[in-house]
Amino acid sequence: MHAYHTPLDLVRERSPERPVALVRRDALAVAARWFRTNFTGDVFYAVKANPSPWVVRSLAENGVNSFDVASIAEVELVSECAPGARMAFMHPVKSRAAISSAYFDHGVRTFSLDSHDELAKIQAATGGAQDLNLIVRLAVDAPGAAYTLNGKFGVSAFEAPDLLRATRQATRELMGVSFHVGSQCMRPSAFQAAMAQASRALVRAAVFADVVDVGGGFPSVYPAMVPPDLSEYTAAIERGFADMMVHEATELWCEPGRALVAESASLLTRVELRKGDFLYLNDGSYGSLFDAAHAKWPFPVKLVRESDGSGATLRPFQFYGPTCDSVDHMPGPFWLPDDVREGDYIEIGMLGAYGVAMATRFNGFGEIDSAEVTDAPMASMFGLAPRSIATPRQDGGSVIKLTRAKGKKRRRR
Ligand SMILES: *Cc1c(COP(=O)(O)O)cnc(C)c1O
Repeated sequence: MHAYHTPLDLVRERSPERPVALVRRDALAVAARWFRTNFTGDVFYAVKANPSPWVVRSLAENGVNSFDVASIAEVELVSECAPGARMAFMHPVKSRAAISSAYFDHGVRTFSLDSHDELAKIQAATGGAQDLNLIVRLAVDAPGAAYTLNGKFGVSAFEAPDLLRATRQATRELMGVSFHVGSQCMRPSAFQAAMAQASRALVRAAVFADVVDVGGGFPSVYPAMVPPDLSEYTAAIERGFADMMVHEATELWCEPGRALVAESASLLTRVELRKGDFLYLNDGSYGSLFDAAHAKWPFPVKLVRESDGSGATLRPFQFYGPTCDSVDHMPGPFWLPDDVREGDYIEIGMLGAYGVAMATRFNGFGEIDSAEVTDAPMASMFGLAPRSIATPRQDGGSVIKLTRAKGKKRRRR
């Protein structure tokens, strides 16, 4: 991957025709080391957040050498990019062929489940293996996440005790519980609440867990979403763990996706046409901007131009992507200097998680290049940049100067 100091250096040298994923390896290394140092347990990276080979390699090099995988393609990716790494197959619904291949071809020993049928399937597909670590995924009620992940997976509190007992009997190795409080969880207390529910299920089942896996959900920074410091999350998890009915050797695991990778990539796009306050870009909802379109997240943006327009008057823009589909629309608002024009490049920040790795090929678009940059991300949970993104607020007219939303609000009350 070619390296540049800043996105502007890249634009000067290449005027790229296709969208470019801007990769910040240092940001990933810092995040990996933070989790290694501050989480008192094992850190499994949830590969789906960004399955780029460079991510898997860099994490392994920086001490995060365990991976939460959800498909055989992710198992193969980790086998190739981080040989010898530990993997946990944490999708509670797997095909028999995927289980067999993971177990026999790739040495995967840890599997999750949320039903008796899946437990039987895992046992059958591994030839009745005696060396399985089996993790029961629990449904938990823990408010505070921007994306809930509770609808689809997890055994209910009512059915959990029976499944926990059956799973305990099925293995002489590790038996554990896991949950997911929801992605981009804004409340550290959600982890503690979920752990209390897991503890109650274990007590009702009258079994001890060897593993408590608190899942993912650790947040990153997006406009209008300034999360508490990550140390508040690890502190809440430690309190939750201390309150659980577990034995002395019980292991604590987590599966961060977003928080490890969000800062490590952004997207360089080009304006192909401007129509008033609408900018037509060369990337969109079928590319790296799924959340900007479907969850309407107003990701932070920067104009990448010789004179970047700092100090210029800002105006709220909406984006359209390159496909002909009308859902290929990102409403923003994205605040940019009001003289933005065709041919300008725009960097869209904080797309390392569920962003630059999501591109499809729909409608003949979606090809994306990658380049490394060494400047700071637009925001950071790890001290590389501010832990908040200033969002301008509209003052009557549509054209305003950049102001901090917070101060203004207070004055009005
Ligand atoms: C998606 C997922 C994660 C990662 O979630 P983040 O919110 O990105 O931290 C972890 N574990 C499981 C089982 C998941 O499905």
